[in-house]
Order: sequence, then structure tokens, then C-alpha cells
Amino acid sequence: MLEIRKDGDPVLRQVAKPVANIDENSLKLAAEMIKTMYEADGVGLAAPQVGESIRLVVYDVGDGPVTMFNPVVTDSEGLLECEERCLSVPGKYAFIARPETVEVRYLDRSGRHCKVKGDGLLGRCLQHELDHLDGKLYTDLAKEVFTDERAKNSTERAKNPVKEKSR
Ligand SMILES: [Zn+2]
Repeated sequence: MLEIRKDGDPVLRQVAKPVANIDENSLKLAAEMIKTMYEADGVGLAAPQVGESIRLVVYDVGDGPVTMFNPVVTDSEGLLECEERCLSVPGKYAFIARPETVEVRYLDRSGRHCKVKGDGLLGRCLQHELDHLDGKLYTDLAKEVFTDERAKNSTERAKNPVKEKSR
């Protein structure tokens, strides 16, 4: 499992470089990121979150893992406020307004040009992960960041186990 970098680590604030070659090394990193994402119980992970400042994102919103190289938002519509969490900002959450639906173009593991359009959890996940590639965290967009009371109170957590997904 790769180490997940936490808020305050400078790598999370860098603008990541495009992936020039989808090769053995970048595919191995993507595979390790997917494993790390599952072990951390997240729905998405961007390379800067594991200390690699390159434009690589993995996610799984329930339909299996997807690997994106050099993803770009090409269209967006609507506006929706949703709760967001981040594996790099543990124990916190905030309500963030973002476009409801986004279209993202990227290269897949074979270097093929792909396109995905998502709303709901997928739309939110795509925007959150792509922000990581530009050195942004959801807390930058938050009016107020809340501390997870359930995380602080272990008795309450044991009584009412809530499985939270972070990105
Ligand atoms: Zn995140």
C-alpha cells in the first residue's frame, strides 16, 4: 500500500505534469493506486495524493476500477451542493457547490482516447480528483470545514457504525 499524503504536504499543492508515456512504470503506479484506494476505502485517488506529481487518476464508483491519464474536463452543466471528504484531509468534511454533470476526456491504460460523462457520485468524484492534479483541495472551495464528530467519538462510532467513503 502506498502512503497517502496529507494536507500540508507540498506535493498536494503542485500542478501535476502530464504523463508523456503510458508505460510499465505508470501502469504499475496506477495498479498500486487502485489497491491503495480500496484499502483506504476511498472512491477515487489522484497521483499527487501518493506523492507523484503526474496527471493520473483512478476511481471506482461501484462499476469497477477506472484509470485515467491526462484527464481534462471538456463540458459541465448544472450546479449542486454535496458533502465531500478526502483521504488527504482525514476526519473532515464540507458541503461544496460544483457543476452537477461533467464530461471528462482522458487516455485509458492502452493510450486510447476516452470520454466519460457523469453526474451524482461520479460527477463529484471526477471533479474532486481532477482538482488534485491542479494542486487544489476541496477545502479551498468550502465556506466552512467540519470535523467529523463520529470519528472523534469512538463509542458513538461503535454503537452506530457508519461506513464513510472518502476521495
Ligand atoms: Zn481528495
